[in-house]
Amino acid sequence: KTILSVKDLHASVDGIEILKGLNLEVKAGEIHAIMGLNGSGKSTFSKVLAGHPDYEVTSGTIEFNGQDISELEPHERATAGVFLAFQYPLEIPGVSNREFLRVAYNAHRKARGEEEIDVFDFDDLIEEKTEIVKMNVSFLDRSVNEGFSGGEKKRNEILQMALLEPSLAILDETDSGLDIDALKTVAEGVNKLATPNSANLVITHYQRLLNYIVPDYVHVMCDGHIIKTGSRELALALEAKGYEWLLEEQAVAS
Ligand code: ADP
Ligand code: MG
Ligand code: MG
Repeated sequence: KTILSVKDLHASVDGIEILKGLNLEVKAGEIHAIMGLNGSGKSTFSKVLAGHPDYEVTSGTIEFNGQDISELEPHERATAGVFLAFQYPLEIPGVSNREFLRVAYNAHRKARGEEEIDVFDFDDLIEEKTEIVKMNVSFLDRSVNEGFSGGEKKRNEILQMALLEPSLAILDETDSGLDIDALKTVAEGVNKLATPNSANLVITHYQRLLNYIVPDYVHVMCDGHIIKTGSRELALALEAKGYEWLLEEQAVAS
C-alpha cells in the first residue's frame, strides 16, 4: 500500500522556486531517510508536505493515502494522518502538556467523526503512552515544553506521535545541535512506533541518526530534487566521502 506519492513536485517561497521536480514514493511499513547538504530543500519539502502557508505548490502532485492533499490546510493534513515533528518545539507557558495533548487528540477524533474522549479515559491512555516512550509522567503536568531540555522536547514530540498514531511521521532534524541522547530518543521512538501500516520520513543532514534508525531507503536531495536513491550503504558512503563525489557523478551524467 502506498502512503505517500509525490510526483514532479515544484514549490516556491516568495516567488523563488525551491523544489524543482521532486519525486518520492513511500509505502506502508517503510522508513525513508532524506539527506543532503544545507540548503538543498529538505526542510522546505517537509513544510510543503505539512502544508505550511508560506510555501506554494506550483506544479506536481502530493497524494497521501490515495488522496490529493495539496490543497488541504495544515490541520486537515494533520488529522488525515500527516505528522511533522517541529524542529523547534513551541513552548506554551500556562498550558499543561496533558491538556495540550488532550485537545490535540480530541481534534483528531472530531475530524474522524468520533466523540471527545472522556477525561479519565484520556488520562489512562496518555499515561500508557508516556510509558511506551519512556517519559516520566511528571512531564504531563508541566507547561508544554517549558524548561524542557532538548532531549525532553524531542521525547515530548515522540509522545505526541505515540498518541496521534500518524500514518506518515516526518522528522526533520536540525542540522546541528541534537545531542546523542536526543538522537537516541528520536530513534527509539521511531523504531518502537513503526507499524506495518504507517511510514516514516526521516530528514537529516548527518548520517549519525541512521546509526539508530535503519532506513529502507536513503535519498539524497540537491537543488530541490532527489538526485540519488540507495540503501543504508549510501548514507555510510556519504559520511565517509562527503557529498562532493555524488555531485560530480551527477555532473558527469548530465
Ligand atoms: P535544507 O533543509 O536542506 O537545509 P531548506 O529547505 O531549509 O534546506 O532551504 C532550501 C533553500 O530555500 C535555501 O536556499 C533557503 O534559503 C531557501 N528558503 C527556504 N525557506 C525560505 C523562505 N521562507 N524564504 C526564502 N528562502 C527560503
Ligand atoms: Mg538547513
Ligand atoms: Mg533543514
